[in-house]
Amino acid sequence: MKYYIAIDLGASKTRIAVCSKDSIIKKIVEATPKHGDEYAIAKFIWESTRKSFSEYIEDIVAVGVASIGPLDIKRGVAVNPTNLPFKEIKLLEPLTKYFNTKVVVANDAMAAAWGEKHYGLGKPFRNLVYLTLSTGVGAGVIVDGHLLIGKEGNAHEVGHIIVDFNSELECGCGGRGHWEAFAGGINIPRVARWIAVKHGISSDLFDFLLKHPEASAKDVFEYYRRGDPLGVLVVDLYVKASRAGIASIINIYDPEILLIGGGVFLNNQDILFEKIVNGLENDIVTSMPIIKPTGFGDDAGLYGALALAVNPPRELLEEQGV
Ligand SMILES: [Zn+2]
Repeated sequence: MKYYIAIDLGASKTRIAVCSKDSIIKKIVEATPKHGDEYAIAKFIWESTRKSFSEYIEDIVAVGVASIGPLDIKRGVAVNPTNLPFKEIKLLEPLTKYFNTKVVVANDAMAAAWGEKHYGLGKPFRNLVYLTLSTGVGAGVIVDGHLLIGKEGNAHEVGHIIVDFNSELECGCGGRGHWEAFAGGINIPRVARWIAVKHGISSDLFDFLLKHPEASAKDVFEYYRRGDPLGVLVVDLYVKASRAGIASIINIYDPEILLIGGGVFLNNQDILFEKIVNGLENDIVTSMPIIKPTGFGDDAGLYGALALAVNPPRELLEEQGV
């Protein structure tokens, strides 16, 4: 039997799965290493796979990697990843050596779009966008059946769409008023502090944030659920920024279906989905696409990586010289 390895490399967690050509057989979830040289992560992936899936290792025919970006797509290297302390994370070259088989590397959201097209709700469609609302904001885009890549593999960096050109709120990339500055999970506590200081708001959430510099998006949403006034303002901005961003995605790419994944969204679908989607038709010039949460939950990246391994997109193979 032939097996495939799917890898979803995230800023906090790395998921590795052994798969048939159709689905995940077994998976592990590990904390992504935060130290070491540019090969540390490739070594960790190889060692973890060898340890957990030793009985499959001889029969692996291809490996797909859905990685945090930004990526140098030709070299298969993550360069200055926004939320991990590495200058470069080499993937394509060392993993090809370790696994001694074909390896395909793509940005995680780009891979997830490819996974939705091959295994998920995107199957019947030629025009599809996968949007991740997670630590960061990103997308993968398929237009006319083609996966969009761009000159360096960044044709889908929708998180840096400017949703408020007057805003002084800085994004992780250094730009101002970007969608991700408002809606990236890592930025949400910062948005809350910024609003509280700017408008002189005191609330339980603000007290909590002052005492807990390590507070996360999860905490902010918890306070929102308790009716905290600062929490309400932060979620309101999150929704407005996301509506503006999604309207731009629809106007630019004209998708038939838009699938939304990512931890921040999936954990708060009950609050966010209708607020983001209702009335969106007033902000677009084209017709509305179907908009749904991904059917894969946390496994969207893994199914993306599997699709890369089993059906590598021609556009990507040309870039990576396979
Ligand atoms: Zn940005």
